[in-house]
Order: sequence, then structure tokens, then C-alpha cells
Amino acid sequence: MRRSTVRSVTTAGALLVAAGAVADLLPTVTAVSPVRRLCPGLAGRGDPGHVALTLDDGPHPVATPLLLQRLDELAVRATFFLLAEQVRRYPRVAYETRERGHEIAVHGLRHDPPTRPWRAGTDLVEAHRIIADVTGAKPGWYRPPYGVLTTSRAVAARRLGLRPVLWTADGRDWAAGADGDSVARRVLARLDGGGTVLLHDSDVAAVPGSWRSALGALDTIVGHCRAQGLLVGPLRDHGLRSGSEKSRRRRVTEPALAGQRQNG
Ligand SMILES: [Zn+2]
Repeated sequence: MRRSTVRSVTTAGALLVAAGAVADLLPTVTAVSPVRRLCPGLAGRGDPGHVALTLDDGPHPVATPLLLQRLDELAVRATFFLLAEQVRRYPRVAYETRERGHEIAVHGLRHDPPTRPWRAGTDLVEAHRIIADVTGAKPGWYRPPYGVLTTSRAVAARRLGLRPVLWTADGRDWAAGADGDSVARRVLARLDGGGTVLLHDSDVAAVPGSWRSALGALDTIVGHCRAQGLLVGPLRDHGLRSGSEKSRRRRVTEPALAGQRQNG
């Protein structure tokens, strides 16, 4: 093949890949999209008497144990959205998170932006397998990195029985200059009954040490919710059905429905 032909084939291939990536992003639901208001379950809006506490990006060898300790002292359980590569590095911390009674969920294999849609399925299968194997949990929730739910990520999650869920109140604990007060103020300005709080127990995709601001905000957030008569807990207590509960329910009801049809 002539060099110019090779170049044009390569360019066409690159364009096809780019077009695929753009097509994957077109029906994207992001954390800032107004679509979240139209899909309250996806945004993490649940039982109005409950606030879901979620922590992303862990496990982390220093941050996660400190947060687990503080959550024990506050008698609060939370949902941890784990990154499988962090689970591989710190399996004992991941296992301990579940052992302490917290809910385990899937954040992804690593903290990638959605630039490789053709890898979304295999990456999520691998992430789910690692997280389930190490923790012994059966995750039912999925939160895509950066809150960007592309078509390929949504399809892959559904196949694995994972329900995508984002958040309603983000503390921006990952940002430079954040501290416990700024994170608590920001969360509480956006939080009401039925909301889902997003914090991080790791700085793997953030400013180094940023998790200290999440740790510093916990007491104020939990105290404020309790003063309002709101329970604070994991997504499993939030009045939403997780993906694994949905698939269990489908398995139970479908034969029953088939029986009814035969009988009717
Ligand atoms: Zn994240």
C-alpha cells in the first residue's frame, strides 16, 4: 500500500473511532445535566425521611480506615463506590469496609473519563468481578467516574445487574482549598430529605490529601441531618431498588406471571 493510502486508511480509522466515541456520548446523562431532574432515581433521590451517604474513589490505605473509624463513632453506615484498581492495591481495606457493615458498590476499574467506549463493557465486567471477589459483596449500584453515564456504560451496567445512581449534593471535597467547613456548607446548602450526598474517601482523582475535608465535614453533615429528623445511611436503606434486587425480582415474578397467563 502506498504511504498516502495507509495514511488515509489510518485517518479514516481514527475518524471512525472518534465518531463512535461521540455517538456514545450523545445520550449521556451527566451530573450537571437537567436530565437528572427528570430522573430522580438516577440522581439518588429516595425516601424523604432518609439521606444516603456515599463515598467514592476508595479504598485508600490512610483515608478509608480513618473514615470507617469516624463512621463507627457516629453509628452511620454508608455506600462505598470502589475503584477495582484500588481494591487490587488495598484488598484488606476493601474487605474491612464491608466487614464493618457498609454497602459495597462499583465505581469502575479505574478513574477514567469515558474516552474508550469500546472498553466500557469489559472494564466494568472486570471491575465488578474484582470488587465482588475481594469483598464478598454482591454490588447492586454503579456510579460512573465523573458522573458521566454514557450509553456503553449504561448497557454494561444493566447486563451486570448494576443500577446507575449519581448524587444530589456534592461537597467538592476533591477541590484545592476545600476544608471540612466548606464541604459541609456546600452539602447542606443542597441537601434535603431523600437526597444523596457525594464525598470521597480517597484522593486518587483529586488534590493530594483532599479526603481530609470529607472527614472534617462528616460530623456537621450527620448532626444537621439528625437535627432535622432525617436518618443517614447507605443506598440500600434509601427506598430505591438496586440493580441486583431488580434482577432478583424479575427472576421471581416472571415465572409467576407466566403461570398467571397460563391460568388466565
Ligand atoms: Zn470518582
